[in-house]
Amino acid sequence: MNVTHPFFDADGDKLREECGIFGVIGARDAAAMTALGLHALQHRGQEACGIVSLDGREFYAHRGIGHVAQVFSDNGIFEQLPGSVASGHVRYSTTGGSGLRNIQPLFADLAAGGFSIAHNGNISNAMTLKRELVSKGSIFQSTSDTEVIIHLIATSRFHKLLDRFVDALRMIEGAYSLICMTPKRLIACRDPLGIRPLVMGRIGDATVFASESVALDVVGAEFVREVEPGEIVEVRTDGRITSHRPFGETSARPCIFEHVYFSRPDSVMGGNSVYEVRRQIGAELAIEAPVEADLVVPVPDSGVPAAIGYAQQSGIPFGLGIIRSHYVGRTFIQPSDGARHADVKRKHNANRALVEGKRIVLIDDSIVRGTTSMKIVQMMRDAGAAEVHMRIASPPTVHSCFYGVDTPERSKLLAARMNIAEMTQFIHADSLAFVSIDGLYRAVGERQRSAACPQHCDACFTGDYPTSLTDLAERDNAADQLTLPVGQVA
Ligand code: AMP
Repeated sequence: MNVTHPFFDADGDKLREECGIFGVIGARDAAAMTALGLHALQHRGQEACGIVSLDGREFYAHRGIGHVAQVFSDNGIFEQLPGSVASGHVRYSTTGGSGLRNIQPLFADLAAGGFSIAHNGNISNAMTLKRELVSKGSIFQSTSDTEVIIHLIATSRFHKLLDRFVDALRMIEGAYSLICMTPKRLIACRDPLGIRPLVMGRIGDATVFASESVALDVVGAEFVREVEPGEIVEVRTDGRITSHRPFGETSARPCIFEHVYFSRPDSVMGGNSVYEVRRQIGAELAIEAPVEADLVVPVPDSGVPAAIGYAQQSGIPFGLGIIRSHYVGRTFIQPSDGARHADVKRKHNANRALVEGKRIVLIDDSIVRGTTSMKIVQMMRDAGAAEVHMRIASPPTVHSCFYGVDTPERSKLLAARMNIAEMTQFIHADSLAFVSIDGLYRAVGERQRSAACPQHCDACFTGDYPTSLTDLAERDNAADQLTLPVGQVA
């Protein structure tokens, strides 16, 4: 079943996106720094990117389809992006959503002046809001859910821009980390549950915001702190910083899948090194699902830290039994199914000299459709492995994400269709095990998952969605999509 909607899909575009955002205020070469920051966030979206800059009077923009290094390959581009304020976006959209008009940051001339917005996340009532806005006369330029925020700001009954902004945020549900620019300030904010990440840093007199701390490292900025869930940080061009908490105290539900897969291992998230968490998940997995074997082999790159943890905990030697070509992008992040299939083969090759005759423990971070696991297990067998035991450094992915991580509809999720025995057979492994949800929580530093008040958004594993899913609930087929409560408001 496809998560599509005729209202938004007139030209085949869809709403779900994976993204990274970066913004800086107070730097002489703000646009060039933003390009560098986006380059460090490239793993969060590889389809398109853009930068908007501001020189105190005018806004300037450059956007394009492709990687940051391609779209911003020419130094001359930065001469056309002057100013000490800039923000940028890297984007991946699901099949068909790669139109030029959806490339962010989006820009609009509002009554109060120019306004740009870069968004990571997904608004789960965007279609409903868009329908209302259009019926009142709004004319949309893109099919991106982010544009809904601009129209809500434009039509707000409040006078001051910040009040309009808060008014708009009160109407949206779902996940959003935003970096916005107005003629006099940069505004960074995180949704009340802090589902998607956003960090703040400093370099000289400049203030920097980024989806992940790795982008601060790369531009030479010092990590200051995370933007808090529900916080709006306003930085003026004169350097003054104001923090607003319009939603009061909220209980955070940051996405646990950022730790499992999405973030770069050299980022620090929620005070934890992503690499260390992944290594720890591997150690938990070795305790929960031991197996007699000769070699622990990671599926590169995403399985490497967990495989190191598994090997350290179990005492089984670690070895690179699969070599990855670095000239192919992330398997999953390819817009069409055909491209994805071809990529698995081009991306990984067995290291026969290491694998032949051995009992292998294969470690990957997750199974989504099962395509990767099936091919890699077969690759190990073809290279002469005696046994292949698959261990997965996350619980089974049984539910779709509606908060900005691209997981396919439930019907395509292997774990939603099959039990462990069936999955084992499907991927043709000798055994298969996933880390438990509590094992995962232990790895991120919790004693266990609190059922009453989960410390993270883990809806992809548990079906416990922390916000209403208005658009989804509206659809005729919603019943098939969700088996667990829709409409819980944290
Ligand atoms: P699949 O072949 O469909 O089972 O996908 C599993 C592979 O995709 C794993 O090796 C993961 O590293 C990767 N992966 C899992 N979830 C995501 C995601 N949301 N976005 C991109 N890649 C992912």
